[in-house]
Amino acid sequence: MDIKITKSLTSRLPEVDFDNLPFGRTFSDHMFVCDYYDGAWHNPRIEPFHNLSLHPATMALHYGQAIFEGMKASITNDGTPMLFRPERHAHRLNQSAVRLCMPQFPEDLFVDALCKLVNIDQGWIPQAAGSALYVRPTMIATDEFIGVKPSQSYKFFIFTGPVGPYYTKPVSLWAETTYIRAAMGGTGAAKAAGNYAGALYPAQLAQERGFDQLLWLDAKEFKYIQESGTMNVFFVINEKVITPPLSGTILDGVTRDSIIQILRSEGITVEEYPITIDEVVQAYHDGTLQEAFGAGTAAVVSHVSEIGYKDLVMVLPPVSERKIAPHVKAVIDGLRAGTVADKWGWTMPIMAEEMVS
Ligand SMILES: *Cc1c(COP(=O)(O)O)cnc(C)c1O
Repeated sequence: MDIKITKSLTSRLPEVDFDNLPFGRTFSDHMFVCDYYDGAWHNPRIEPFHNLSLHPATMALHYGQAIFEGMKASITNDGTPMLFRPERHAHRLNQSAVRLCMPQFPEDLFVDALCKLVNIDQGWIPQAAGSALYVRPTMIATDEFIGVKPSQSYKFFIFTGPVGPYYTKPVSLWAETTYIRAAMGGTGAAKAAGNYAGALYPAQLAQERGFDQLLWLDAKEFKYIQESGTMNVFFVINEKVITPPLSGTILDGVTRDSIIQILRSEGITVEEYPITIDEVVQAYHDGTLQEAFGAGTAAVVSHVSEIGYKDLVMVLPPVSERKIAPHVKAVIDGLRAGTVADKWGWTMPIMAEEMVS
């Protein structure tokens, strides 16, 4: 399908202060839009960024058929715009779509749209190290109907916005033993809007206790560690890297997968198994809990400074003593900047031939 392009007549770029970019509040000049009806996707197009006009009975607003992706475009040191593992995001969007009974979006069109959109708005990609153009593909149900059933029409859109270097002060996590994020058989593995709404209240309670974010435990026994906020979690215990397996209750993070592959390619053992909070407590008491970190597109790596669990607050070693998390962050940042050789084929430079006038 050909993407029809309508360029904006003026750019808002001169109004943007690239030295002060609040995360998630600045949006680029263009967006990609495509509509689904009569059983097919129609009219893929890039248009000037605009508001959507929605009927009050738009189904996504009531019954939650809304899914999204989060990824980043960077600019290499030689000025080439670059995407990181875009096919994997396209595929994950479709896995979320299946779970929410939404139509799949053609993965090649997803990548094509992304390349063209980032190309047109490449002036919006911040140059400073660690900055990027955040990309938000979204799909919503658009039938105007009251009643619980799958919508027959959908809108898929992609918009972008520049984000500054995500300074990550280490985060403190509260291991939650009252509320849950996801149960086996639920929607935890989908990037579905409703998952995040349900997490807000318990996260607020954790913040009132003085913790930044939640460390989710399994829904049945409050024993097995799942993930944290919008990050997968890793632990380094006694020189071994451990992360919970993809059991259907956690998101299959692109950063998680990249970290596992990078470490394994260097001969470092990474074990994917249902690690319990008790094991982390035990390692803490034994003095073998070396690192804990969250992994996700936004920050790549967020060091965990403390974990609260029941009456215990485990204070982890200072970041200066950590080896694994700073290393994997440097490799992924380097791949994005084009300074680390990409032996995996993860980076997709957007070449000048794809330029559209
Ligand atoms: C997006 C997300 C992640 C991280 O996925 P990446 O592909 O690495 O950005 C982890 N957990 C949840 C719940 C998420 O929404």
